Amino acid sequence: MKRILFCFFLLFIGKFCSAQFSDFIIIVSNADLKEILENPNSIKGYINSNIYKSPNLELAFLNKKKSINGEHYRFQLFWLNIPIENAVLNIFKSDISNKNLQILCPFFEIDLPKVSLSNHSENIVWTFQKGDYIPLIKIQNINDGYWYYLNSFEDTVFKIDSRQYFHNDDSLIKAYVFYPDPLSSTGKNYGDTGFIDNGDLNSIQLFQARVLRPVKVKYLNNRIVLVNDIYTLNTSFGVGTQAPVINDTIINIPRNQPGFEWINSYYHITSFTNYVNSLGFQIPDFPISIDPHYSGNDASFFQYMPAIGSGLLAFGDGGIDDAEDADALVHEAGHAVIIASSLSTPLGSERRSMDEGICDYFAASYSKNITENAWTKVFNWDGNVTWQGRSVQSGRKYPLSPAATIWLNGQIISEAMMRVRDSLGSQKADSAFICALYSLSANSTMVDYARAVLSCDTSLFGAANSKIIKDAFEFVNIMVWPLSNKDAQIKKNPFIIKNSFGFGIGESLIIEKNDVQIWQVELLDIQGKVLDQFEIQDKMSFYSNNKIAKGIYFIKIKSPQNLEAYSYKLIKY
Ligand SMILES: [Zn+2]
Repeated sequence: MKRILFCFFLLFIGKFCSAQFSDFIIIVSNADLKEILENPNSIKGYINSNIYKSPNLELAFLNKKKSINGEHYRFQLFWLNIPIENAVLNIFKSDISNKNLQILCPFFEIDLPKVSLSNHSENIVWTFQKGDYIPLIKIQNINDGYWYYLNSFEDTVFKIDSRQYFHNDDSLIKAYVFYPDPLSSTGKNYGDTGFIDNGDLNSIQLFQARVLRPVKVKYLNNRIVLVNDIYTLNTSFGVGTQAPVINDTIINIPRNQPGFEWINSYYHITSFTNYVNSLGFQIPDFPISIDPHYSGNDASFFQYMPAIGSGLLAFGDGGIDDAEDADALVHEAGHAVIIASSLSTPLGSERRSMDEGICDYFAASYSKNITENAWTKVFNWDGNVTWQGRSVQSGRKYPLSPAATIWLNGQIISEAMMRVRDSLGSQKADSAFICALYSLSANSTMVDYARAVLSCDTSLFGAANSKIIKDAFEFVNIMVWPLSNKDAQIKKNPFIIKNSFGFGIGESLIIEKNDVQIWQVELLDIQGKVLDQFEIQDKMSFYSNNKIAKGIYFIKIKSPQNLEAYSYKLIKY
């Protein structure tokens, strides 16, 4: 496998979104929260005129989801009173700051055709088909559990699994898998006797390198099927291989048979997902098909399809089969976790590099929980024939190198994350890391992410780990500006500035001073233009400004005779 590809259907982007994609997150005051949640149409006017630029959109409450740091309220979008399939507005209310309310909008500048399917008016939805929104009739067939999407002639255009079909109980069986890969688990090197790919042939050493692990499966028609509430093994996307017939409660398939990648991919992807769930994050929360033999190419990917609300994890068989290596499996499953939490499409080189680095980190951390052998290498088994894998200790530093690929640049952030993990342990580190994914938007930078991790540490652990996190990111030159929990004292001056992060989200900045003089304070924009000025004399002064747009500002504090002046950078979100 030369590189891991991350594909994302740009269904909503190419047609409907402008360059302002990252402006999806709107932070509104707490005063508006109650009204918005009780009556979502109260924000409709604002959203229609500022984001969607369409008078024909309506919102209706869909559901409420609890994350570990707040609540997500979801609203279905309608156009001309017809729901748009999978177009959901997400409003986030933080448990921590009662002013940190975010509205995430799925797309904007809608211009849908006016079409009527009057015979079935109650079942019509807008669906995205081949570059256009078209209305289709959506009907669930209770016999096979699928949603059918029909045209006006009642022909099936497509169907999706509603997942009601597999409502039988979990059963615990055991399966032989690589754990996490045949080299890490044995401490062997590639090329040692028996430890070579050899065109996917078996060897006694690779046979014995498999480990018997418990795995949850379903029984369907008296047969074991590899499926759970999220994942389904499905070959209909790729070249197609037969699913193995499993009748035994111990799955014992050698690596040279296609069935081995079936069980190996199912085991590691569901294990990683169970781990994410165990930390309190119920993601991914959409159905995902796994195709462990997608193609003969040496590439794997995760693809999310907003139009049908489901995802595909596809693994190639070129070089060493990707689905034989937990690093490749968890890396791609990590992309699904990112998409499910951030509800945004990664755009731009830095955001995409960051996603690759975060997924490498997930893979390396998962493997290191199993064994510390060769833990700095990612893709320990897969990265030996056609490529050499990647590292979570590459020595790369921020900022990104314009000449490097997103996968190489991603190694900057994976190294920082691994350092945090090695200090805090994976559970604490991953709680903060996954929590921070929820705040990513399309063009987020590595600095944004580091800041979000610090913010999550504050909300989850009372900022107990802020120094460790800050040090780790600064080790790779990702500098994090002071947050509310760790505001800097301006060098040799009589001031302490506090709650600078809070200022950015509409709270008051706190200026503390230790003398009795009157000082002049100015708020400047990035061009140096004075936007506001006032005097302070008290030991503690408060200043907020909700009129300024988001961006970078400076607070300048000048002494009475104008002999001394101190500047402090602020960010308005
Ligand atoms: Zn990737």
